[in-house]
Order: sequence, then structure tokens, then C-alpha cells
Amino acid sequence: MSQDRAKVRLYVDAPLGVAQSVPVNREQANYLFNVMRLATGDRVALFNGRDGEWLAEVVTHNKRGGILTCVAKSGPQCQPPDLWLLFAPIKKTRTDFIVEKAAEMGAARILPVQTRHTNAERIRQDRLQAHAIEAAEQCGGTYVPEVAELQQLARLLDDWPMDRQIMFCDESLVGAKAGLTAASGDKWAILIGPEGGFAEEETTRLREMDCVISVSLGPRILRADTAAVAALTLWQATLGDWR
Ligand code: SAM
Repeated sequence: MSQDRAKVRLYVDAPLGVAQSVPVNREQANYLFNVMRLATGDRVALFNGRDGEWLAEVVTHNKRGGILTCVAKSGPQCQPPDLWLLFAPIKKTRTDFIVEKAAEMGAARILPVQTRHTNAERIRQDRLQAHAIEAAEQCGGTYVPEVAELQQLARLLDDWPMDRQIMFCDESLVGAKAGLTAASGDKWAILIGPEGGFAEEETTRLREMDCVISVSLGPRILRADTAAVAALTLWQATLGDWR
């Protein structure tokens, strides 16, 4: 079955360009040829985070892999705003949710951080990265945010690049005005705390940093996963690519 529009989008590592051959690995082959039941001649939309979106055709395939060939460029490369999401990991499914939503909502990097009251000791970075890829594939994005390994918030702040502002979502400001209206600049990070909230010494340290803007997310205390989506929405609508 041939078609003009691809029903499947796939993130690949390979360069994309006119007549470029793109190998697919075993996992991608399983998805394309077993799950989505694509056959020779069918079309797939490819992106690699650098070259925009390309329409490609299945040339050969088997259980272990296959070859696609790029046919035509179908969309431009769109970079997200320079926005990082720093969050303290929570339960597995809710952490997955945060990564998925951050990728959909246009975060450029996702950095899980360990704070004083973070419950998670470790994360599966590879699994979270796979969630970010899947989210980019399904939302039509041409960019996949990098998911970093878990790191201590305190250490990250020790080496913090001072030209990057931090939108510190501070639960102690619950009920105050959001506080982002006068903000400007193009390098940002959103910081969301764990279920237990920030420790006093963390709040004090953050408030003393010149690059930090403390922000309220409204009159109710939100769960961390809700807070991440609310903060991304607020930032995108005020300073990001929703304006
Ligand atoms: N246990 C904390 C408490 O009761 O104060 C609540 C922590 S909340 C579940 C998790 C994180 O979401 C917070 O650390 C903060 O970053 C963010 N958050 C939730 N509601 C917020 C609000 N109304 N304003 C600012 N940040 C909020």
C-alpha cells in the first residue's frame, strides 16, 4: 500500500536528505512492520532533531531491521525555546507523565534533580529518554529534548550558568499573583519540587540567587506532575512559543 501522507512518524539518528538511506534497528522494525504493519513502498515521516521532517519509503524489511529511503522534505526543523525543566522525580508513572508532557510542551532539556525531600534515589534515564522520543513522535515535533541523569540540585546550583534564569515554583507563595509578567530573557529553567516540597535551606538559597524569579502557580497546592504542566503552560504563554 502506497500513500502520500505517512501514518507513522519515527525519530532516527541518521542524517536525512534527498535519496538518503536510513537503516532501522530491530526495535524500530518491530514497531513499523509488526505493530503498524507497514510494507515495502509504504511511507514513514522521519525526523532526527536536525534536518526537519522527511517523507521516506520502505525499501526492504525483515524481523531484524530494514532500510528506508528519504523521498522529500515534508516539514522544517523547529527548535523549541531555550527552556529547561528541572523537577524532582516522584512515583514512576507520574515521572513518566512529567517527561512526556515536557517533551510535548516544548522543553529543550529535561533535568531530574534530587532535592532534600526527593523520594526517588535513582531513575531509568534510558526509559525516560524513550518516553521523550515517543512524545515527540506523536505530537508532530521535530526535536527530542535530552533527558539528563539524576543529579543533586545543590550541585547543579553550584555551577549554575548565571545567564539562565530560574522560574522557581515556590509552594509557599500559594495564592499570590504568578509573578512572571515583568520577566524577560530567552534562557530559562523551570524548577518544580517533590511531593514533600522544598526544604527551608533550598528555598533560602534559591531566593538569594540573582537569576531566580519565585513564582506562584495559583491559589491551590498542585501535585508535582500537575505543577510541571501548569508551569510549562504559564511560561510558554508568557515568554515562550505560544505568544
Ligand atoms: N508538600 C508541599 C506543601 O504542602 O507545601 C507541596 C509540594 S507540591 C506537591 C510539589 C511542587 O509543585 C512544589 O515543590 C512546587 O514546586 C510546585 N507547586 C505546587 N503548587 C504550587 C503553587 N501553588 N505555587 C507554586 N508552586 C507550586
